[in-house]
Amino acid sequence: MAKVTLVDVSKVYKGNVRAVSDFNLEIEDGEFIIFVGPSGCGKSTTLRMIAGLEEITSGKIYIGDKLVNNIEPRDRDIAMVFQNYALYPHMSVFDNLGYSLKCHHEKKEVIKEKVNSVAKLLNIEELLERKPKELSGGQRQRVALGRCLIRNPKAFLFDEPLSNLDAKLRVQMRSEISKLHKQVAGTFIYVTHDQTEAMTMGDRIVVMKDGFVQQIDTPVNLYEHPVNVFVATFLGSPQMNIFKVTLKGDKLILDENTSLTLSEKTKNKMMEGYDEQNLILGIRPSDFDIASEEDYDFYVEKIDLIEKLGNETLLYLSLPGREENTIVSLKMDMGDDLKGPIYLKVNKDKIHLFNEEEVSILKINDYNYIPVSLKLEENDLHIDKKYVIKDFLNKSLTDEFTSEEGKVRVPSAAFKLERENEDDFEVEVEIRAKDVRSKSNVYFARMKKDQIRITFMCEKDKHFKVGEKVKLYASLTALSVCDKDENVIMVNDEINKPIIDVEAKKIGQEFYVVHEDKTFVKAHKYLLVEKLYDLNAKMLLVSRDQKNEYLTLRIDRNDDFFNGMLLYTKVKKIKKEKNK
Ligand code: ADP
Repeated sequence: MAKVTLVDVSKVYKGNVRAVSDFNLEIEDGEFIIFVGPSGCGKSTTLRMIAGLEEITSGKIYIGDKLVNNIEPRDRDIAMVFQNYALYPHMSVFDNLGYSLKCHHEKKEVIKEKVNSVAKLLNIEELLERKPKELSGGQRQRVALGRCLIRNPKAFLFDEPLSNLDAKLRVQMRSEISKLHKQVAGTFIYVTHDQTEAMTMGDRIVVMKDGFVQQIDTPVNLYEHPVNVFVATFLGSPQMNIFKVTLKGDKLILDENTSLTLSEKTKNKMMEGYDEQNLILGIRPSDFDIASEEDYDFYVEKIDLIEKLGNETLLYLSLPGREENTIVSLKMDMGDDLKGPIYLKVNKDKIHLFNEEEVSILKINDYNYIPVSLKLEENDLHIDKKYVIKDFLNKSLTDEFTSEEGKVRVPSAAFKLERENEDDFEVEVEIRAKDVRSKSNVYFARMKKDQIRITFMCEKDKHFKVGEKVKLYASLTALSVCDKDENVIMVNDEINKPIIDVEAKKIGQEFYVVHEDKTFVKAHKYLLVEKLYDLNAKMLLVSRDQKNEYLTLRIDRNDDFFNGMLLYTKVKKIKKEKNK
């Protein structure tokens, strides 16, 4: 099995039909990846380009380490399962399975042995003598799978393999393909327009729209942190409810009588600069609950429709800020007496907010919150009995600190892979997924202890496999101390340090720091923007590098910067330009 890599891959069909644009993806060896999106978004075209059935207009595709742009499909060593099975009708199941081996002049005994072992794996041993027309849809699909398995290819490609099957069989085949993936530990690339298939089968999902990748992430991250309204409403059933609102201070105004107050957690995640602006609010049906008269967000006069689904009850009702019906999902059987009026509450930690361009304004995984024990001894704070923050009381934002369980906040960009100081904060994590950004890798991992989620960034040439254990370090000065509800009670030292001004410029994706001191600039591989200020002709950006050092940048106003964005610095060109 092998890794599959796509670099800036685009496809323009005749007549200037842009089917796929700038597709970048690194599929790990053994990963199960899903391409999902509405019909016509370019999923099949991408799959067919990987298989070599479609020429690519620009970009590069690698299978393993080999560039395959100009390699014939049959030499790419890839197996493809189609929706219409593509079995040879005149051959028995046995011959269909063994055909490719026969073409490679494999010995009869070897063919027999391999066909039998694959048939056993797929539970079709009794069908070997039959012809395809004597098989059911599910059985034919199994034969088609077997035909791929027998060749032991570098990767398996699936193009909507289950869409011809009835609902019941689809569910069954879904779990069989997942099981098969575990058994053969192969690289699986799977195209579907069905979001349930995507959410239940893949390690990672690529969400596409109009030929563009919208987001690549684990199912859980896609569901919890969608980057735009499209991803938010495409995944999740029933669909997320979308409202038009205006932000006023810490309130989201739905209409003159209705508003929602933002929770601390959501406020902390929000990018700045959206006060008094129109926003789009997203609430998943399952984030509503029945509330009491004393403490509620919505009063609902009447419920339009109730659907009882057994373990869940769906309510269809009208709320302000939205013309269509709002769907509320309650995790119980509500009985017959639920007609309205009722009071509803929203889990305000879980709401989604987007700007008018439909892009999320909630920062994703900027910070990691790690549970620790906190104990004050004299003026010093002891964390987990291992780390000491000296003179804590003078830095604390609260007067009434008592020793307790708390959390430390570590920015994703602050983790290092090597210990630099004796007293560096240390965590051990297991890698779960990876996101390749243009100049760095972002890893999603879990701590062994309590399975806490950790996101960290590292340089592009640093690779970890899913399941690998990694030790991460962060300087104590990069930590902020929080109570267990994630309210910050001590901000780290660095914020108060003097900041350095440099001239900077953004050209395309690259970011140029114009600075005399070249050695200093070299240290900044990327910067995380934390604050934006408007000056007259320029913008002032407060950012931090991966060593967690603060840097203020003066930037041309016409560039589009936002809070939480990563800037990639490129230094060499500046030097050249300066030398000219
Ligand atoms: P999906 O698999 O997501 O449904 P496709 O990859 O099949 O989407 O198609 C992407 C876009 O490219 C669509 O607009 C489709 O009409 C167009 N397209 C697909 N194949 C061809 C072709 N052979 N010639 C011209 N346009 C095509």
